Amino acid sequence: MSKIDRIDLFPVAIPLNHPYKSATRMTAHSEDIVVRINANGVSGWGAAALRTFPTGETLKSAYKILEELLVPVVEGQDPFQREQILEKMDRIIPFHHSPKSAIDCALHDLLGKILNTPVYNLLGGKVRDEMPAFDILPLESPERTAELVNESKEKGIFAFKVKMNRDIKTSVKRVQSARESAGEDSKIVVDANMSWTPKLAIQVCSLIEPFSITMLEQPVPGHDIDGLEFVTKNTRIPICADESLRPDYLGEVLRRRAADIVNIKINREGGLLNCKKVAACIEVSGIEGLCGSVIHSALNDVASAHFFASTPNIVFNESGKSPSWHSEDIVEGFKVENGKVQVPSGVGFGVEVNEDAINKFKFKI
Ligand SMILES: [Mg+2]
Repeated sequence: MSKIDRIDLFPVAIPLNHPYKSATRMTAHSEDIVVRINANGVSGWGAAALRTFPTGETLKSAYKILEELLVPVVEGQDPFQREQILEKMDRIIPFHHSPKSAIDCALHDLLGKILNTPVYNLLGGKVRDEMPAFDILPLESPERTAELVNESKEKGIFAFKVKMNRDIKTSVKRVQSARESAGEDSKIVVDANMSWTPKLAIQVCSLIEPFSITMLEQPVPGHDIDGLEFVTKNTRIPICADESLRPDYLGEVLRRRAADIVNIKINREGGLLNCKKVAACIEVSGIEGLCGSVIHSALNDVASAHFFASTPNIVFNESGKSPSWHSEDIVEGFKVENGKVQVPSGVGFGVEVNEDAINKFKFKI
């Protein structure tokens, strides 16, 4: 039997190239807790990316949960028993999906290395080699938005997610500016990050519909599944649930068909195994999937790449932004070419973790 010998935790803060502003926060670093699991003389790596939104966790809370509760129940276990390990973690404490996700991702990387195969082969095999990612356009002026779109187009990017907020006038101008700069063949997605009431959302939908919007993400607060359903049933723009896709809301979203698309985030769902379960649930409900992302290191982006590589009903992707956010990262070998995230084909996650970079960005909690 294989046995997990040791788990190490490394909190890191990786500087962003530019500060990032959305309707819920402003940030200047990717803050992850990197987890290393050792078994059979091999190391597997995963990361928890903590955000008060969407996971409701902080770096300190996740570190403490890992250190005091999760690491002690996972050390000594057989790393192949992924379901049993998830169950043990859920039994010792509910929720706290980000730190559980870091353990689950590190287990997948470890098992891929032990079995000498890429992680996507543990998740159903590969259905695609690459996928375009949206470039995220933050809450900047319409003029700055046009500049950002033009810079991205020069790098071969033709899919954009425009952030919107309560300032409807500027938000709509930002969307218009993005569409005009991006051209008619580009994809424009918008994200309100819970800024509106259901009625206001319908009004905004009528204002942005002329700009050929691929989807509108999370118009109303995450808990307002009634409101989300109302918006979904009263606009022609496809509606995506993001903050409403907490594991405890998923059943209600699906029962009511309160969204057309759901945003599946590895950290929020509690890891790769749980993401595959969410993907199976939405498949039977006729709802499409988006492989989501927050601001984090490439260690989470590469886990996302193995998820969308192995999951046919993930039809949109926003992961893969880490190379554009950081000039230096903790992972080497993760590639985005011509706006398309490449699925690594090496064993495990197929990338090298740079331990010097981890030490450089490490900080004490
Ligand atoms: Mg979102």
